[in-house]
Amino acid sequence: MSDVFQFMKLSRNPGDKVEPSVRKIEFKEIYRPLHAVDAADQAGRCLSCGNPYCEWECPVHNYIPNWLRLVEEGRLFEAAELSHQTNSLPEICGRVCPQDRLCEGACTLNQGGFGAVSIGSIEKHITDEAFKAGWRPDMSRVRQTGKTAAVIGAGPAGLACADVLARNGVKPVVYDRYEEIGGLLTFGIPEFKLEKSVVRRRREILEGMGVEFVLGCDVGKDVSFDKLMSRHDAVFMGMGAYKAMRGGFPGEDSKGVLQALPYLINNVRQHLGTLPSEEAPINMAGKRVMVLGGGDTAMDCNRTAIRQGARRVMCAYRRDEANMPGSRREVDNAREEGVEFLWNRQPMSIEPMIGGTLAVKLAGTRLSQPDARGRRNAEIVPGSEEIIECDHVIIAFGFQAEAASWAEKQGIATAANGRTLAAASGEYKYQTSNPKVFAGGDMVRGADLVVRAVFEGRQAAEGMLGYLGVW
Ligand code: FAD
Ligand code: SF4
Repeated sequence: MSDVFQFMKLSRNPGDKVEPSVRKIEFKEIYRPLHAVDAADQAGRCLSCGNPYCEWECPVHNYIPNWLRLVEEGRLFEAAELSHQTNSLPEICGRVCPQDRLCEGACTLNQGGFGAVSIGSIEKHITDEAFKAGWRPDMSRVRQTGKTAAVIGAGPAGLACADVLARNGVKPVVYDRYEEIGGLLTFGIPEFKLEKSVVRRRREILEGMGVEFVLGCDVGKDVSFDKLMSRHDAVFMGMGAYKAMRGGFPGEDSKGVLQALPYLINNVRQHLGTLPSEEAPINMAGKRVMVLGGGDTAMDCNRTAIRQGARRVMCAYRRDEANMPGSRREVDNAREEGVEFLWNRQPMSIEPMIGGTLAVKLAGTRLSQPDARGRRNAEIVPGSEEIIECDHVIIAFGFQAEAASWAEKQGIATAANGRTLAAASGEYKYQTSNPKVFAGGDMVRGADLVVRAVFEGRQAAEGMLGYLGVW
């Protein structure tokens, strides 16, 4: 075991990053894996605090200090077993969670200025290495109940729900309209944050556990919701939030203006080789690109355009850097790769110009005094307009949930903002107003994070097990 002062002798190491000059021309993960020795050394920096704040801030409440100790002692399979007790997709969360805002942000070492334990990289290391060494979830003691559940959506919420159901003897059948599983993990988050082979491997693991996937099946079109209700003992809806928010300024629909998600999906499908023949590949090679927005989606668009060979990529956001919603780590990565940030800029209009280029009018902003909720709004500074010419604008203002087309007929209550109502508390967690139907993830909470969707999928599965009389 390491000495208690290891955190002082050894600095934080989340794994080396690939050089910007190399990574900006390839669609590969930019963080190199930790070697086993480094993972053990880094795990040994943990202070094993009596009240581990990291566990509280982790949305799935991972047993972080406990699995860090197992890594330090080289007990990889036990660490994998423990990490799967709370998280259905640990290798994915280890890659895409904004750890600086969650577990690592709460690490006591971080507070003391020593640099947080690199929790995310170690979580990724545990599952990656355990899988390589042949570890698989132990299903030997699962007793099949003969019950089945439909899971609509193979995103993180649906996959997590299916994982917990399968481990408790209820057969999940997961329906998704896409040709691959993962939801936004596959058709949203780019490869430089999460390589698609990681999601494919998780599919193999889940299939090995008895999860069935029905892909390329749009519920409501290819199969009716009524049919799923009659075929299965319970239904989970984890259909995400896909209604793109609009800016409401002139020229938003001009030729050359793209929406973020179709742009990202087009790029992923080019790499997967599944771009439909009727859809043209989108490529920013040699173009001047302006991305509007300041969240994770905007960062992914910036960095995708850079990798496609854009001549110039600018990112305009209406607040300052400290008040942007995206992960700090991703902004730093984008900047290192050559993205130019235009903080405190509000888009006013986009005007098509002769020759096919676009004139984007931006106004300068300043932040107001905090409102009742402590939020500082962006106010336009009079006379501060500027016009920037570019070839493409990509709009990344975020997404809203929409009610399922069958919600009303099935007595599934939704809020005015489109979110499906499913309570975290109550007799059965995440049950909707139709007792046989449960829901979780972005369609319930609005566009958020992978790890929160995982949590809600797991919680809903527990609710379903209670409803089905299994628990
Ligand atoms: P989704 O992942 O959206 O999955 C929903 C699934 O339901 C989809 O596969 C969809 O095809 C399917 N579906 C919908 N309707 C039907 C239907 N009628 N029939 C069949 N299937 C249907 N979060 C992070 O934590 N870290 C990040 O770095 C990060 N980056 C992001 C980057 C982008 C570009 C975007 C858009 C989001 C990002 N997020 C990130 C957010 C994260 O991806 C989501 O919060 C998470 O995926 C939500 O999971 P979900 O299962 O609720 O929904
Ligand atoms: Fe941190 Fe996310 Fe892992 Fe929780 S799931 S320990 S927040 S990286």
